[in-house]
Amino acid sequence: MQRRGDFRVVVTKDHLVFSSAHFITFAGHRCEGLHGHNYRARVTLEGQLDEEVWFVFDFVTIKQIMKRLCDEIDHKVLLALDNPKLQVTEEGDTVRVAYEGTPRYAFPRSDCALLPVPNTTVEMLAELLATRLRNELEKMGARGLTAVEMEIEENFGQSAVYRVALP
Ligand SMILES: [Zn+2]
Repeated sequence: MQRRGDFRVVVTKDHLVFSSAHFITFAGHRCEGLHGHNYRARVTLEGQLDEEVWFVFDFVTIKQIMKRLCDEIDHKVLLALDNPKLQVTEEGDTVRVAYEGTPRYAFPRSDCALLPVPNTTVEMLAELLATRLRNELEKMGARGLTAVEMEIEENFGQSAVYRVALP
């Protein structure tokens, strides 16, 4: 049969969530206070059908990887390491955060997720998790995938989507 359409698989599950604290910086000299969200991830994988099994990708595997990626940042304070307005430093078991040079927070190291992003917006979290998922897929030698899309929702009906085409 000549197939003319494209396939993609989508996973969004009740356990693909992370409840985390964060704050973002805005333009100028404004910085949010610390607060939390029940974030939810939604993953889409685009690709060719594997014509041995007639699916694009195994749902069980996507769910396992995504659960692990969500667990890594669940119940943590999400801190942006690449934000020029924030100074995040580790002193033993303590992470200290300053905003434009003024000390603001100190957290136990084990309660923090130090993330290589410029701001913990849902856009940057979507890109980060898509990149981490992509790395996992590459590591396991996944074939036939043409794009990874990650949607991160921070409130009902309020989300950002990042999509990256795979070479
Ligand atoms: Zn927020």
